[in-house]
Amino acid sequence: MKILVTGGAGFIGSHLCEQLLDSGHSVIVIDNLSTGSLANIEHLKGHKNFAFTEGDILDCALLDKMFKGVDMVYHLAAAVGVKFIIDNPLDSIHVNVLGTENVFRCAVKRGCKVVLASTSEVYGKNDLPRLSENSDRILGATSITRWSYASSKALDEFISFGYHKHHKLPIVIGRLFNTCGPRQSSRYGMVIPRFISQALKGDPITVYGTGEQTRAFTFVKDTVKALIGIGFSDKCVGEVFNIGNEAYATTIKNLAALVKAKARSSSEIKFITYEEAYERDFEDMMHRVPDTTKLRSFIDFKPDYSLDQILDHTIAFMKGKNG
Ligand code: UDP
Repeated sequence: MKILVTGGAGFIGSHLCEQLLDSGHSVIVIDNLSTGSLANIEHLKGHKNFAFTEGDILDCALLDKMFKGVDMVYHLAAAVGVKFIIDNPLDSIHVNVLGTENVFRCAVKRGCKVVLASTSEVYGKNDLPRLSENSDRILGATSITRWSYASSKALDEFISFGYHKHHKLPIVIGRLFNTCGPRQSSRYGMVIPRFISQALKGDPITVYGTGEQTRAFTFVKDTVKALIGIGFSDKCVGEVFNIGNEAYATTIKNLAALVKAKARSSSEIKFITYEEAYERDFEDMMHRVPDTTKLRSFIDFKPDYSLDQILDHTIAFMKGKNG
């Protein structure tokens, strides 16, 4: 198959490309390198079935050209990371909403399947013990920038369902829960690379708020396995799936201690307010853990990596990178 990966030079996108190439597919990537990087795909560049184009999904003419001969698109190009969204609210909305609409217009024209990478952020502040696909979305006021991310990605999901319903376009949506692993940047706010980077440098490990908030982390290779599983299953068409690993939910305070111990770091663990970290009136969700029953009932999926293994792999990668 010829597969287009938008955002293929990003953290998750680059791992997805690797796996698709390993399975014998031909992969083309469009990425504007805003949060992705050439370093992420350096090792793929010589591959005979791989091609990279630096460009933006807001560029309709380029996007249309790239869709030629494509059988399926993995749409990952998006603004990501709570910190990135807060720093770049308008650009984030543009790329997440207008960019996605462009992708779907091209997909309809060529009749190719779209796999949309969405996010658990769409559930907002709903802190049920386990979030299932039909759980309510609970969002705060529009003056709180964070919720623009949840709203724009939810709109992406509505766009997907709309194209499926009105144009009979095959679509499937994966809602990703706190994916992490090698190549994830610490620059856009994600907690694991931030804690590891701080621990390796001996800087304070910055826990926001009380640190009692919980998250369930998923290793990027498990996320990719699920994305490929839903993308290649006819049964999954028209459906939305949580993609995550509920087995290793932890408080952020506990995560800080774990990273410190694993990195053999002497860093202090420092608690700072959300206002200092982000902006006034910032809101966080106290608990976010997926229910993956639906995913496991549609495809054969079981995560391979524990939180310990996730941290070991990511620390080893970041140590290598830091020399
Ligand atoms: N967090 C933290 N310190 C950091 C970065 C993040 O305590 O340096 C917290 C953040 O407030 C949230 C959790 O870690 O409660 C996960 O944050 P991340 O941005 O990785 O993902 P989120 O689940 O918020 O989308």
